Amino acid sequence: MGATIVWFRQDLRLEDNPALTAAAQRGAPVIPLFIRDETIPADEAMGAASHWWLHGSLAALAAGLETRYGQRLILRRGAPGEILEALAAETTADTVLWNRCYEPHAVTRDREIKAELKECGLAVESHNAALIAEPWEVRTGAGEPYKVFTPFWKAVRAQIVPPQPLPAPDALPCPATWPGSDALDDWALLPSRPDWAGGLREVWTPGENAARSRLHAFLRHRLDGYADARDLPGTHGTSRLSPHLHWGEIGPRQVWHATHAHTAAHGQAKTEKAAAKFLAEVGWREFSYHLLFNFPQIVRDNFRPEFDGYPWASDPAALARWQRGQTGYPIVDAGMRELWATGWMHNRVRMIVGSFLIKDLLIHWKEGERWFADTLVDADLASNCASWQWVAGSGADAAPYFRIFNPVSQAAKFDADGTYIRKWVPEIARLPDDFIAQPWAAPALVLKAADIELGNTYPRPIVDHAQARDRAMAGYREMRGEA
Ligand code: FAD
Repeated sequence: MGATIVWFRQDLRLEDNPALTAAAQRGAPVIPLFIRDETIPADEAMGAASHWWLHGSLAALAAGLETRYGQRLILRRGAPGEILEALAAETTADTVLWNRCYEPHAVTRDREIKAELKECGLAVESHNAALIAEPWEVRTGAGEPYKVFTPFWKAVRAQIVPPQPLPAPDALPCPATWPGSDALDDWALLPSRPDWAGGLREVWTPGENAARSRLHAFLRHRLDGYADARDLPGTHGTSRLSPHLHWGEIGPRQVWHATHAHTAAHGQAKTEKAAAKFLAEVGWREFSYHLLFNFPQIVRDNFRPEFDGYPWASDPAALARWQRGQTGYPIVDAGMRELWATGWMHNRVRMIVGSFLIKDLLIHWKEGERWFADTLVDADLASNCASWQWVAGSGADAAPYFRIFNPVSQAAKFDADGTYIRKWVPEIARLPDDFIAQPWAAPALVLKAADIELGNTYPRPIVDHAQARDRAMAGYREMRGEA
C-alpha cells in the first residue's frame, strides 16, 4: 500500500477531521501537506490579516502533529495540482485525501486536480469538515437552492443530523524518509517592516487548542447572556470563534454538539433560547456558504442585478477616511479602528460601518468587502460577500435598501453608555453620554471641557446623515427608474 497524502486547506485541526481520520484508517504512512496556492485569483486572494493568522495556525498544526504523532507538516508553494503530482511521485503515495472547500476557485481547482490525479492512477477522496450541511443537500420543495435564511435554517434543522465529531486519530504512521518542505518563516506571512500585528497578538491565539478553549469558555461564561449581549459591542458577549471557524481549527459540527451537550447539562429555558440563537448565527455562516456555492457570482456581482444600475460614487478621499476611522461619526470610527487594531469588529458595528460606506458615502459594497478581506482575521469569502450584499440590499436575503442605519441612534441603542466608543475613540472619551455619539451636537462649552476641538482633535462629520440619506434614497429611486 502506498502512502497517503492529506492535503490540509481550511481544516487546520486534528479532531473531527474526516480526511485525516480516513488516512489513519488506511494504516499506510501519512504525509500531511499544506500548499500555499499561488493560483488564487485576486478577488479571492487572502489579505494581510489572514496571512498573519495562517502563520500561527500552521505553526500550531505542525506542533500538534509533531507532539502527538512525531509527524511533520510538509509545506510547499505553487500550483497545487503540480505539487501533488510531484509529491506523490516522490513519496510513492497512491492516495490523496482532503476536506472540501467551497470558494469558486477552490471548487474548479479541486475538480480538475481530482481528475488529473485519477488519470495518474491515484485514489482521491474528499470529505466534509467545514459545514453542517453540504450546499447541495438542502433544497426547497421545488428542488432549488434556498435564497432566504429562515426557511433554509429550518430545513437544515429538520433534515440534517450532524454526525458526532470524530476524535483525533490515535496514530498517524510516518513515512520512512521525509519529503522536502519549505520553512514556514520563509513564507514571510508575518508583517515585519512595519510590524502592525501587535494588536492582533494581544487578542488572538491561532490554532486548534485555542479554538477549543474559546468555545468552552464561551459556553461556560457567555452563552446564557448571548441573546441579549450579542448586539452590544461594548461587552464581550459573543464567541469570537469566527477566525477559528474560517480556518477550520474547529468545525461547526463540534460547535453544534458541544452547544447541545452544554444545554442538555444546564437545561434552563434561558440557556436553550440562547443556544438556539447562537446556533442560528452559525447557521448564517452555513447559509453564506450555501449561497456562495450555488451562486458563485456573488463574489463579484450584485445578486440582484438591478443594483448594477445604482449611481455609486467614486470618492477615494471618503473611502480613505472610512478606512482610517476618521469620518466624524464616533460609532463608525470606533468600529473601523477596532478592525485595524485587532483584525476583528463586532457584528452590529460591521452592519453600521457597512451601511455608512454604502448609503451615506454611496461607495460600492465591493470596496468595503475588499477592505474587510484585507484587514479581518476572520476574512471569509462566503460570509464577507454575503454579508456585504446583505447590507447593500443587493443580496439574496438582504436588508431592504431603504433601511438605512442612523449612526447616532444605533450608537444610542447599542452603546448607550458609550463604552465602545470611548475605548476606540479616546480623543472624545470625556464627552458626556448624551454627546458621545454626536460630538458636533455638543455646546461649545461641553466640547471645551472635554478638550475637543472639532476639525482639529476629532473630525467634523464627513457628511450630514439626513442629507446623505436623502441622496441615497434618490439614487435608489433612480436605479428603479422612479426618479
Ligand atoms: P458569534 O455571534 O459568536 O457567532 C458564532 C459564529 O457564527 C461566528 O463565529 C461566525 O462563524 C458565525 N456568524 C455569526 N454571525 C454571522 C453572520 N452574520 N454571517 C455569517 N456567519 C456568522 N463573518 C466572518 O466569519 N467572516 C467575514 O469575512 C465576515 N464579514 C462580514 C461583513 C459584514 C459587512 C458583516 C455585517 C458581517 C460579516 N461577518 C463575517 C459576519 C459576522 O459579523 C461575524 O461572523 C461575527 O461578528 C463573528 O464574531 P463571533 O465569532 O463572536 O460571532
